[in-house]
Amino acid sequence: MNGGKKPRVLVVEDNFMNKILVKEMLTLNGYEVIEAGTGREAIDMVISEKPDLVLMDIHLPELDGVAATRFIKNKEGFKELPVVALTASAMHGDEEKILAEGFDGYVPKPIERQKLLDVVKAMLGDKKP
Ligand code: MN
Repeated sequence: MNGGKKPRVLVVEDNFMNKILVKEMLTLNGYEVIEAGTGREAIDMVISEKPDLVLMDIHLPELDGVAATRFIKNKEGFKELPVVALTASAMHGDEEKILAEGFDGYVPKPIERQKLLDVVKAMLGDKKP
């Protein structure tokens, strides 16, 4: 436990159904979920809401997930914030490319509940629900 405080996860996704699905998987497992629908909104939410973890879609309006993640990772005080890519690119070799872009991990779409929960748990270290 984390002093009774739920780990806060920012879900950045422009697809309504994907956002609902991920939100449900996480809230049912004891996480607090906050949401953003664009790359710019993601940056604003990271700064104002200080999540413990970010789940970032790659294809987003305004600013894509790669650019938003680069911005977050270059921002003072946010370098250690784990950012996990949510992407449909499940071809062989893509995981290396995703990690090379600065993401800390990768969850392929369509999202499997157990895979998502395993990655989230691994990323949060001792901050578990
Ligand atoms: Mn998208």
